[in-house]
Amino acid sequence: MSKKLTIDDIEVMGKKVLVRVDFNVPLKDSIITDDNRIKAALPTINYLINQGAKVILFAHLSKIKTIEDQEKYTLKPIAQRLSEILKKDVIFINQTQGEKLEKSINSLHNGEVLMVENTRFEDLDGKKESLNNEDLAKYWASLGDGIFVNDAFGTAHRTHASNVGIAKYSEIAVSGYLLEKEIKFIGNTINNPNKPLVAILGGAKVSDKINVIENLLNKADYILIGGAMMFTFFKAQGYNVGSSLYEEDKLDLARDLLFKAKGKIILPIDCIVNNSFNNQGEIQEVLIDKIPNGFMGLDIGSATLNLFAEYIKQAQTIIWNGPMGVFEMSNFAKGTSRLCQEITKNKKAITIIGGGDSASAAINLGFENEFSHISTGGGASLEYLEGKKLPGISCLTDKMESNVNI
Ligand code: AMP
Repeated sequence: MSKKLTIDDIEVMGKKVLVRVDFNVPLKDSIITDDNRIKAALPTINYLINQGAKVILFAHLSKIKTIEDQEKYTLKPIAQRLSEILKKDVIFINQTQGEKLEKSINSLHNGEVLMVENTRFEDLDGKKESLNNEDLAKYWASLGDGIFVNDAFGTAHRTHASNVGIAKYSEIAVSGYLLEKEIKFIGNTINNPNKPLVAILGGAKVSDKINVIENLLNKADYILIGGAMMFTFFKAQGYNVGSSLYEEDKLDLARDLLFKAKGKIILPIDCIVNNSFNNQGEIQEVLIDKIPNGFMGLDIGSATLNLFAEYIKQAQTIIWNGPMGVFEMSNFAKGTSRLCQEITKNKKAITIIGGGDSASAAINLGFENEFSHISTGGGASLEYLEGKKLPGISCLTDKMESNVNI
């Protein structure tokens, strides 16, 4: 991948800088229940403030399909929260286009911050944001002084007006610090890993991760598989999986992947089963070929953990995506929790969690600061692990082609 310009490559003093951030935070009755995404954008926002830029923030919140959604998903509470965290006024404009927005932007002073209303409000009118409407992108780009900073990794797999569109109509488009970190850890690690690279995949379905497995088969030395996904592989090999979750229509695919893997795919040797999908019941640890009828596998077993630990110990790079079991139930969280312990014990390796459920599992289980990198994007991380080019990164200006003295 060609190198992209970063926020450190540009001069922003006195300039109106357009910044796309990922503030898609969870809300309950308009109260923010987790503001980590807001905090994650602070290095970029603070840098721009300190450099004397006029900072104009674009973000989306949820999906907007109805007028009621518009009322529910205004960015106003997010602007307030950002203002509290920054200890500084954040001017919130309840418009995505219009005179008030334009005037307020034009009267910004150096170091001031303004937040535009939810970019997806534009989706009510012909999905303009999500379909990257040219006129909207041109209009948004015209609000700034030709500089666009993309710091929204969570939407980097989308071609929307507020990322790819603005970038196209700006003179220069660069990554912010958060996006830069994701590029460094996931992008560079996948393309140029320190070997051995051990990938660990879990979660519910093989179908969600086929492309990740295929890409990693070319890059990783070993792929350790846990989660319900393992049962599709076992069923494909003729094992009795009891009532475990598996995908009937993916059995051929699982056989094909095992064939292509030439021994790189390492499957569990035992698992924890229960007689119902419940935290209580007749819980037992059994070997994979001894799953009783009427029982379902809900976590990996202790022999598997010891086996996986051997691979993890030798790794120089570890990429993990997907929990090893139903970690939401305490009796089936041990596999995921011990996996976190084993990974973080290996201090010589670069350790990366590829977003989504595994990121929340690691954080909930207390491992937040123990990994080299926990990705902030769910879908975006998966597509990055699949080896796809993310439009929100591809749209940035290449280091070579730019005139950096803007
Ligand atoms: P994913 O979003 O594909 O990473 O899947 C995460 C979900 O997979 C979590 O909600 C887990 O509870 C679920 N999961 C993991 N292992 C199992 C299992 N053995 N049986 C059923 N669900 C599982």
